Amino acid sequence: MIGHQTRRPGAHFLQLPGPTTTPQRVMEAIARPTINHRGPEFRDLTVEALEGIRAIFRTSGSVIIYPSSGTGAWEAALVNALSPGDAVLMYETGWFSTLWCRLARKIGLEPELIPGDWRTPVDAEAIGQRLREDKARRIKAVCVVHNETSTGVTSDLAAVRRAIDEAGHPALLMVDLVSSLASIDYRHDEWGVDVAVGGSQKGLMLPPGLSFNALSDKALAASRSARLTRSYWDWAEMLEANARGFFPYTPAINLLQGLREAIAMLQEEGLDAVFARHRRAAAATRAAVAQWGFETQCRDAAAHSPVLTAVRMPDGVSADAVRESALERCNMSLGNGLGQLDDKVFRIGHLGDFSDALVLGTIAATEAALAFAGVSHRTGGTEAAIALLTGQRAAQPGELAA
Ligand SMILES: *Cc1c(COP(=O)(O)O)cnc(C)c1O
Repeated sequence: MIGHQTRRPGAHFLQLPGPTTTPQRVMEAIARPTINHRGPEFRDLTVEALEGIRAIFRTSGSVIIYPSSGTGAWEAALVNALSPGDAVLMYETGWFSTLWCRLARKIGLEPELIPGDWRTPVDAEAIGQRLREDKARRIKAVCVVHNETSTGVTSDLAAVRRAIDEAGHPALLMVDLVSSLASIDYRHDEWGVDVAVGGSQKGLMLPPGLSFNALSDKALAASRSARLTRSYWDWAEMLEANARGFFPYTPAINLLQGLREAIAMLQEEGLDAVFARHRRAAAATRAAVAQWGFETQCRDAAAHSPVLTAVRMPDGVSADAVRESALERCNMSLGNGLGQLDDKVFRIGHLGDFSDALVLGTIAATEAALAFAGVSHRTGGTEAAIALLTGQRAAQPGELAA
């Protein structure tokens, strides 16, 4: 057989910080026959999917669903609300923040990236300071990544909102939730976010292919006079069609069937329980990393990501070698280091649909991969994780923090 590889028995552990494992219930919903996207059955699906996703964003406003990866929704947020040459203030949390910045420049905006060290969260004070200096009000939007997937650092979005308000600045607040939506507490309306960007393949437990923009009234108002060129991403056309239960072009029908099921699962568990489950898995993973004797890429105890842990290898040790043994010997995929962290960190994903057994299996397999790769470490990481999950070891300060 062409391309046939040696069979790896047992379930593959897809422990990336996205895409994540799609649960059976969602797979079955996606596998149902494709329906007419202009028929009555589809209208019900649109209404239910839109209502459900609004609850996930905790907003009573509009949410747009695109058939695209998260990158498309990044672009959609900018082209709908801004005009050519607008200044945009961004913050360098890591690889994803720099990609969003590059996209902004390519489409004709003038992004300014506040430099960061890829190990700490957004400094809301620095954003407030920059906005106070902007007397001419050239900055039209502040864009930050909630959970920086390249580093495992989560930022405080409510603090960014306060900084903008305290500076008395009218800029829109745009946030990237691609790896935090449905995994880390997020409150669109309460936190006063204008545009939130989401994706399907991380906390929402779906395959890649759907993305989201959650809007505020202020963002909608801005879109009416915004002049960047847009067609496929146009909020106005989408909202008009959605109001009738349809889409302006063929939507990702089967993924929408999966979305409805995934949202039902999240609601059955309860969003707060989902968030707590992610914090526990993260604390258990960090307990193991500390026992192994490694540093996490995040070095702010209050900002550790609940959805992934980026593990720094000592100088001269290849992180990719650990990932290779994880794949070859343990049938497990770990995330690679991105950008300046290439081969320096590996990333353990703990988001989406997982149990304690899966978290412990991942940690044990990572410990085995370290041994297979000949990387010097203290053993006992798995025991440390069990102790944390069973409450025999108290969480360290910040370990269970949101
Ligand atoms: C995954 C991710 C993206 C990019 O999403 P794609 O679906 O790959 O286009 C953007 N931002 C963050 C924070 C991500 O984790």
